[in-house]
Amino acid sequence: MTASRSDDFLGLAGKVLAHTARSALAPKPTRSVPRGDTRFVPPPASSSADETEANDGWGFADTKFVVQPNGSVVLTGKRYNISDIELPALVPWMAKTLAAPLGYDNRHDPHYPPPVPEARQAPELLSDLLGFLGRDQLSAEPLVRLRRGHGHTGAEIWAIRYGKLERVPDLVVFPSAHEQVVQLVQVAERHGACLIPFGGGTNVTDALRLPASEERFVIAVDMRRMNRILWIDPVNLTACIEAGAVGRHIAQELGKYKLMLGHEPDSLEFSTLGGWIATNASGMKKNRYGNIEDIVLDMQVVTTRGVVERPAVGPRESIGANPKNFMFGSEGNYGIVTSAIVKLFRAPEVQRYGSVLFPTLGHGLDFLYDLQRAGAVPASVRVVDNTQFQFGQALKPKSTGRAARWKSQLEKALVTQLKGFDPQQLAVATLVFEGSSEEVAFQENAVYRIAKQHGGMKAGAKNGERGYQLTFGIAYIRDLTFSHWAIAESFETSVPWSQALSLYERVRERVRREHEARRLPGNPFFTGRITQVYSTGVCIYFYLGFYCKGVADPVRQYTELEHAAREEILAAGGSLSHHHGVGKIRQDFLSTIYSPGSLEFMRQVKRAVDPGNLFGASNHGVRGTVDLGA
Ligand SMILES: Cc1cc2nc3c(=O)[nH]c(=O)nc-3n(C[C@H](O)[C@H](O)[C@H](O)COP(=O)(O)OP(=O)(O)OC[C@H]3O[C@@H](n4cnc5c(N)ncnc54)[C@H](O)[C@@H]3O)c2cc1C
Repeated sequence: MTASRSDDFLGLAGKVLAHTARSALAPKPTRSVPRGDTRFVPPPASSSADETEANDGWGFADTKFVVQPNGSVVLTGKRYNISDIELPALVPWMAKTLAAPLGYDNRHDPHYPPPVPEARQAPELLSDLLGFLGRDQLSAEPLVRLRRGHGHTGAEIWAIRYGKLERVPDLVVFPSAHEQVVQLVQVAERHGACLIPFGGGTNVTDALRLPASEERFVIAVDMRRMNRILWIDPVNLTACIEAGAVGRHIAQELGKYKLMLGHEPDSLEFSTLGGWIATNASGMKKNRYGNIEDIVLDMQVVTTRGVVERPAVGPRESIGANPKNFMFGSEGNYGIVTSAIVKLFRAPEVQRYGSVLFPTLGHGLDFLYDLQRAGAVPASVRVVDNTQFQFGQALKPKSTGRAARWKSQLEKALVTQLKGFDPQQLAVATLVFEGSSEEVAFQENAVYRIAKQHGGMKAGAKNGERGYQLTFGIAYIRDLTFSHWAIAESFETSVPWSQALSLYERVRERVRREHEARRLPGNPFFTGRITQVYSTGVCIYFYLGFYCKGVADPVRQYTELEHAAREEILAAGGSLSHHHGVGKIRQDFLSTIYSPGSLEFMRQVKRAVDPGNLFGASNHGVRGTVDLGA
């Protein structure tokens, strides 16, 4: 066993702190490669901002969409570009789309907090934990336990707002160092407890839900106090970061040195490095910077068999079946990631936005295909379907002043009359270009040329920027719809180019049929966007919902509808998931996508590395199918 990375870190810290003071924060332009150990230890992050998170829904506690008596919607707080602005068109548009009476008076107010199951007691275990953890590193508070017992699936948020969870962890611990995790694993194993690693709790796969049959004392291991950047190497473009660091903090800290990770999931503000690894996540700028498995070079993992780690990491290696590879998509099954060595990128010299209107989603797909072939895919390009385009329009504030209204009418006339686009069919691509000014100029040139060949019409940088800025704000919309009797959720897939459009059409049609067959009220809400591109195909991201007032068991109806949509996805050539993962929500499909031999392989790996099932989350079928109870 090598010296642990934290010991290594402490030694290194002393050595390089002095160097830090001298060294430039960003590498200086030079012709020769700097020699020797070029790492430095950044000072700890400090933040005075209010970062309190909501417990009963998405995001920050000060931010939620609220319908006003006049029917307009306001996003409270001041954090986002649409915060504190009246949005008059949103509820009328949603009501029309769902064919349902959404409005101020028709509310479904949450009953948070729900009853929280009593914690099991384990006094001897507790006393052993207090041997190496401070009292402030343990909590058995009901609401603290409740929050660590779920992620962000629609069913989970519905349960905590309008129902309850049958089983949640009995204790939450907050380790602050790798060595504490090592001791925690030893103590928990000795006492026959169960451990569930917890990152930001943003997964959408029921990965944190406990099996109904779990009788042991369950400890949720909240990793967010392990949030330091242990070192940065600005020459070799690597960093070692603790696994509980949240995306927005990583971005802020690296940004101080004009560096970045390039991993930007839509949940960036709240999800963690460890969670990204454990779910095999993908960010919106993966075209330029890669997915999480491309970005993470190595990691330190505490397992029941010892610590998985290595003394050094090479730029690319062929060293056998490296155990760290099992951690991508491990979903809490095999151990706890405590830190990772990641690739860094220099902050782009130029960042520019763009947008293009296309006559249909099909034109947008063709545009993406040619873009990929031309090698000109920008950091991010998303093509949204007509419903999502309209949704974006509905999120616009009231246009004030005659000039603004004229401009908007003129734009509409140009698109519909001059270009002949059908407003009920058109799709829009939003673009983010990043790189040197030469790279961005090359990409812009190619993008707009290829867009034109596919009937596209430039729609401006402002619309593109707005599209991306909306990303973080619209994550709060689901809570709004729940509060007005509409149940909704997202799901995604990846699919080869040649099957992408038919998959989209088939899923839409299947949802329509299922909604009708179940006699659910109104119209189903269905929309999709193409979010990531590969040489082999694309990722398509869907939203699905329906008005559910008077529906006996809306969560069960939704689950069955999404299940049907997933059957259709698989039948149409799509994958089980591009980036969300399996957890327990998609466990029923594992025998469709894996051979019996593959499933047995995964179960045997679990048995070998964790024979006592200390890590008892039981995700992606490693312990067979799991029942979550009522
Ligand atoms: C609004 C919204 C937007 C989203 N956008 C994206 C997106 O763009 N791309 C994307 O990929 N996903 C996205 N997701 C899904 C989610 O954010 C990701 O799955 C994310 O990677 C989960 O990270 P987390 O830190 O919240 O993990 P958690 O939800 O806390 O945990 C997820 C799983 O990882 C395990 N785990 C967590 N930390 C560790 C650790 N240190 N060691 C071992 N196991 C661990 C947990 O036990 C659990 O099984 C989104 C979700 C929401 C609600």
